[in-house]
Amino acid sequence: MASCRKCGLAKTRTQTVFADGSPEARILFVGEAPGADEDAQGVPFVGRAGQLLTRMIEDGMGLSRKSVYIANVLKCRPPDNRNPEPPEIAACRGYLEAQIDIVKPEAIVALGKFATQFLLETEEGIMRLRGKWGSYRGIPVMPTYHPSFLLRQPDKKREAWEDLLKVLDRIGLPAPARKGIPSP
Ligand code: URA
Repeated sequence: MASCRKCGLAKTRTQTVFADGSPEARILFVGEAPGADEDAQGVPFVGRAGQLLTRMIEDGMGLSRKSVYIANVLKCRPPDNRNPEPPEIAACRGYLEAQIDIVKPEAIVALGKFATQFLLETEEGIMRLRGKWGSYRGIPVMPTYHPSFLLRQPDKKREAWEDLLKVLDRIGLPAPARKGIPSP
């Protein structure tokens, strides 16, 4: 994948951003696309949104970040962090499909609109879909808010945390004693 030239983002990226975490993970998180920090470091979710995602996983769910698997719909940064375009998503889709096939998670958390629409093959918005189980090739999918949105709308963290608790419950993991997703 590191040498991929299937779309125009190959021209502007510093490097591809494949995944982070464990290929043995029971839970797989899907985001949108790398930002500037991820493009520089080659690791998904390491910037501000990534730090919040880490807190959602570690404090909100009581899991270690390295025990889950984290990937994005797009493996290359769109210039100026613009939204992914449909031809880019189409060119990149085989990579995420293969990652999910290899990891075989028991549940997938779709972070925001692009991950949710990709996995559930829908045009419906995240506001309507979040908190309700969907399915990707038989794997349960929980759509929830993207951490970048939660940075702008911290009052929505409670709903996101409730979505994450549903994921723990679905695969038989205990909810953590500490309540909620802490503030940055
Ligand atoms: N936002 C994403 O969707 N993915 C990242 O890797 C970083 C920020």
